[in-house]
Amino acid sequence: MCGLVGVVGTDDSAYEAFVGLLNLQHRGQDGAGILTVDTRRNQFNVLKGSGLVENIFSERTFRTLKGPASIGHTRYATIGRRDPNLLQPFLDSDTGIAIAHNGNIVNCYELKEALLAANPHVHFATESDSEIILRLLCEALQDSLLDAEPMFKAIESAMTRLVGAYAIVGLVRDCSLFAFRDPNGVRPLFLGRREGTANGSAYAFASETVALDYLGYTSIEEVKPGEAVYITPNGEVSRRIILPGSYSPCMFEWVYFARVESEMGNESVYKARFNLGLILAEEVKRRGIEADLILPVPETSRIAAIAMSEALNTPFRELLIKNRYVNRTFILDDQAARQEAIRRKLFPIAKEIAGKRCLVVDDSIVRGNTALQIVKLIRQAGAKEVILVSTCPPIAHPCYYGIDFPTPTELIANNRTEDQIAEELGVDRVVYQSVDGLRQALEQKSLCTGCITGTYPTDISSGIHFEEQRQLDRSKQLTETT
Ligand code: SF4
Repeated sequence: MCGLVGVVGTDDSAYEAFVGLLNLQHRGQDGAGILTVDTRRNQFNVLKGSGLVENIFSERTFRTLKGPASIGHTRYATIGRRDPNLLQPFLDSDTGIAIAHNGNIVNCYELKEALLAANPHVHFATESDSEIILRLLCEALQDSLLDAEPMFKAIESAMTRLVGAYAIVGLVRDCSLFAFRDPNGVRPLFLGRREGTANGSAYAFASETVALDYLGYTSIEEVKPGEAVYITPNGEVSRRIILPGSYSPCMFEWVYFARVESEMGNESVYKARFNLGLILAEEVKRRGIEADLILPVPETSRIAAIAMSEALNTPFRELLIKNRYVNRTFILDDQAARQEAIRRKLFPIAKEIAGKRCLVVDDSIVRGNTALQIVKLIRQAGAKEVILVSTCPPIAHPCYYGIDFPTPTELIANNRTEDQIAEELGVDRVVYQSVDGLRQALEQKSLCTGCITGTYPTDISSGIHFEEQRQLDRSKQLTETT
């Protein structure tokens, strides 16, 4: 999961990309990059770095990152976390295009083999599937004019070969901006327009509406599943549905990933989380569970916990206090680092917890690391009972589309009943959202629920190979860094 921004039609494009990325920081904290085209010097300028957006870019940055169009990326690594070569955007200076990608290509290893078989002189600088997308585009664009039509043809040629989830923003050397989204729209991408710039109108793409809202863009709409958009620096917009598919956005965007201020699939993330709480409260009532306090696990589950508190007429209490300077644990990529981070990031207010039946609301239970640690903290604080509820149904299958749910054995819900999970986590009861409850709360006609149901919106026959390779890349990386 990564954050994308693309801006065209304003002289401050790089600064806007920076502000956009600040608003998308939660989508990836491993590193970030911004790329522009300096039309006076006829060259691409790029700055990338590891860590948080505000630590990578400074005022000085924007003296060199000039130009009316920019793309930016904030990275959440599913492989190669420490490798600076994997920071995006990626550039092919021969063809004169650059891209940034959010998602995962399930058949990337097969595609790489096919590209190498077709041309043994092709050189891949990284293990990234995003580089494969760039290569497919460049091959299809060979000797073409860089314009909307040839770009749409190149995107079509790439899309017919790519299997998986991808939202892409790209930049052409003449400062045209383009974007496209996979046929199922698994990963989010939005387009907005702002009138009254020196160039007339400015346009921007972003992974979430919050970034566009913040930058003053209006007429915000989703890039449609399978759609490509091409915008020239003087504001000519061309759009084409390249490969239509059935809309299956990732349910986890509403449950966990997206900012609560954002909207997706015409549903506000805030409302979806509130609904998740209301529906879970019904289930808690149905099971006759009673509690003295409702505690959210900060931050994502707060809205659902408020809804549960109202529906169950049980006091809502913030008794797990977060150290805001510790990064979200889910994003850290090895087990030991995650466990240590959880211990550092949450502190319970023991006097308020002691002797109480605590209903603890978490957005999801993935590996169970966070839950286990939190339960320990609440038990040590003297809770009389701990009931853990998850606003997301049990996650029991891998995600092949860019979220780090890697092997089924690492997932606590895989092959375990609720009672077994409760025992494993040391809680009195565990209550999960149902799949129907999730669908109802998110108010979407269709969703990707692959990691819950094991049914995915794309072919995943390459998935096992993809997983094996990903594990191999991981262990290679660990060996290199230890
Ligand atoms: S498998 Fe799960 S996490 Fe992955 S895209 Fe689908 S719903 Fe989202």
